[in-house]
Amino acid sequence: MKKIKYIAASAAFLLLGTSCGNDWLNLEPSTYMPTDEIINELSDIDLVLNGIYSTMQSAYAYSGRFIYYADATGDDMQTIKSTNRTGSYYLMKYTKDDAPSTFWSYPYNMLNMCNLIIGQTDGIETLETETRDSYKGQAYAIRGMITFELTRFYGYPYKKDNGASLGVPIANKVFGKDEKPSRNTVAECYDAVISDLETAISLMNNDEGRKFNKGHINRWAAMALLSRVYLYHGDDQKAFQMATEAINGAEAQGYHLWSTEEYPTAWSVDAGSASAAGEVLFEVVNTTDDSPGKESLGYLHNPSGYYDICVTTSFYDLLTQDPDDVRIKLLKSKNNYGYFVYKFQPQDGETIYDANIPVLRLSEVYLNAAEAAVKLNDNANAVKYLDAIVNRANPANTVQGTTVTLERVMTERRKELVAEGHRMYDALRDGGYVERYDIEDSPLPNRHLPLDADAVRFNWDYYKCVLAIPKAEMDVNPNLIQNPEYAK
Ligand code: CA
Repeated sequence: MKKIKYIAASAAFLLLGTSCGNDWLNLEPSTYMPTDEIINELSDIDLVLNGIYSTMQSAYAYSGRFIYYADATGDDMQTIKSTNRTGSYYLMKYTKDDAPSTFWSYPYNMLNMCNLIIGQTDGIETLETETRDSYKGQAYAIRGMITFELTRFYGYPYKKDNGASLGVPIANKVFGKDEKPSRNTVAECYDAVISDLETAISLMNNDEGRKFNKGHINRWAAMALLSRVYLYHGDDQKAFQMATEAINGAEAQGYHLWSTEEYPTAWSVDAGSASAAGEVLFEVVNTTDDSPGKESLGYLHNPSGYYDICVTTSFYDLLTQDPDDVRIKLLKSKNNYGYFVYKFQPQDGETIYDANIPVLRLSEVYLNAAEAAVKLNDNANAVKYLDAIVNRANPANTVQGTTVTLERVMTERRKELVAEGHRMYDALRDGGYVERYDIEDSPLPNRHLPLDADAVRFNWDYYKCVLAIPKAEMDVNPNLIQNPEYAK
């Protein structure tokens, strides 16, 4: 146990050095993890796993940047002031010299912990084989999820060139001190992500892996994510199959779409079971004693907090075309600023910045199924899965009796998933555009801030739709190749 605590402390130290921006402290690539220690028992695995979930809680990970990045760079949300926390992403002003380091260092730190578990678990003798497989399954699921995040941060959308461009170095082992990994292609990264998630789903095919496990990834959450990954990768048949399997399996476990009545406030539920969790398949749990603090999504999105990022006039116009859409109730107004999204709601007795972060929701899986069905020319299933979301948003609405188009599904996806970290990726992954414009006669006080011409309307050809590899990593690893255009 002492050894593991040392590992966790070392990892935390590395992150501290990075997050303070003191690059002079960060003498090694952040892919490096100072350990060749042995894990002896299941409780050691649990400790490392908790270290990963704890890292996810950071505002540099899922309680902040990992989520708001694709909203700030999209067209449905905008930063209030250019100096705000989300400002540089919204403006897309970063260069190869000041690109943020945490989008690289936090993922690789978590990947090292995943690989520690994956590499050591098989050597543990235990009678609790389901628990062991669940731990290992979670490590695979998280490794797949984090590699997917990295691939989206640094690699162009798969369909741009069938994954021929550079992604990130695939971490399939604990990286030692002298490891100087090269970037794999986007195609290789997707293969790794898909393989990891498939392995996770297989390892969690037992009671331990299927059950509700607060703040932990289970089989249904891994399936939900894989259905999305398949869509990004163009595997529509597999996406449909995985999405429907996730929906059926999760619902048999007690998960369910929130009702129209539940929807405005269900985000605050402190779930202790699948039925209480409703549609949240995986959430990052923050508490008063263990909080990401004021940099968290709860505080950034709140009119009483930093009110950092709000919806655009074009999104407001889209959502309010049906004034009875229940999702309008999640918009909170602040005079002279606009409307803020209230999805990161604190649990009972907590402060706003202790709000849990829903990372994978059943609503998305319904939309994944609908999207895959449209792409497969299966209108009956497109109608079935889209209607569950449309009819829940307003019981007076239905898509039954219509021919569902891809545009119709993607519009619903915008409305349903705003502020949850999807928009830029969704706009670009099938060759579309992010388009930032104002509705001139909007009742909202906010308008877009002055943007570079290239950042007003862009597709996957805009070089800033991917981040630059951080300078600190380029400096210590000569095998890394910078993304195009940034290198100039
Ligand atoms: Ca909480």
